[in-house]
Amino acid sequence: MAPNNPASPLHDVVILGSGPAGLTAAIYAARANLTPVVIEGPQSGGQLTITTEVENFPGFPEGIQGPELILRTRQQAERFGTVFLTGNVTRADLSARPFTLTVDDTPLRARTLIVATGASARLLGLPNESRLMGAGVSACATCDGFFFRDKRVMVVGGGDSAVEEAIFLTRFASRVTLVHRRDQLRASKIMVDKAKKNEKLDFLWNKGVEDILGDSVVTGLRLKDTVSGEISEHPADGVFMAIGHTPNTGIFAGQLEMDETGYLRVRPGTTRTNVTGVFAAGDVADRHYRQAITAAGTGCMAALDAERFLEAEAG
Ligand code: NAP
Repeated sequence: MAPNNPASPLHDVVILGSGPAGLTAAIYAARANLTPVVIEGPQSGGQLTITTEVENFPGFPEGIQGPELILRTRQQAERFGTVFLTGNVTRADLSARPFTLTVDDTPLRARTLIVATGASARLLGLPNESRLMGAGVSACATCDGFFFRDKRVMVVGGGDSAVEEAIFLTRFASRVTLVHRRDQLRASKIMVDKAKKNEKLDFLWNKGVEDILGDSVVTGLRLKDTVSGEISEHPADGVFMAIGHTPNTGIFAGQLEMDETGYLRVRPGTTRTNVTGVFAAGDVADRHYRQAITAAGTGCMAALDAERFLEAEAG
């Protein structure tokens, strides 16, 4: 079936992404009887599915595991009639309404679209990083930490992700070294205090990664001191990249307004993008807060914005 074919199914609300933003949008849209369709990509559930304990989501005084929080939110969305589709959106035509999306090879049409595609782990871009990915290089401690029992690992980065991953990895590894390019962590104080108290964890300050060493598996890191320029080599069995995230907005290039790093721009105080009928929620439009709770909050806003837009159109 060709894109723009009027015979392809037409939906009131299509939501791209199934993290806290997409699922919260689905709960609200479903409860407004709009039968939303959530399209889940390769990492269904988003970043929370590769997180361990979430201690700051309101309503869970004892904390909750990320995957469980997502599962429960998804069940809530299903309970009110959300439809879930799995596939990759390979094309989005936002030039005319209804919008046409191609999910793998199948087109579907949407009166409104909520983009909640989140952000993905950023990598350094070194040739050995991609070559040794899965052979000692990882961007997900919760996925791969188990393979490093009694091994030495390094974590690159200085934000909350890096510190959280480093602490998590001390459960398995014999030694965890956090490598940061400055002499101060960006991570929140509570995380830093926790890390500094952990006896299995140490720090290498002012070090940039020059290269990842190893033929078939990682054997170490070559680092460059960002102050003195000195080069040093450090043995390690694994290296975890935790240097931030890149928003998943590639398919909207040239159609939706973005900032210089690819985050979608929305009108302040709303989830409206520059294209009428397209709304953005969660990390894809948020380079500042990037929390599960803020993603859920903007997901709610996007569903309400879409609902009001459809109501206004219907007259
Ligand atoms: P982030 O806060 O953007 O931190 C990225 C870190 O990577 C920074 O320390 C940065 O160094 C470093 N970095 C970036 N590019 C690099 C490069 N090319 N080479 C070496 N180092 C590089 O990202 P994040 O840690 O993923 O956190 C994202 C957001 O999620 C934050 O708002 C964070 O609070 C939140 N988060 C919260 C929790 C929690 O509450 N439990 C857990 C995880 C994440 P500089 O410091 O020098 O810029």
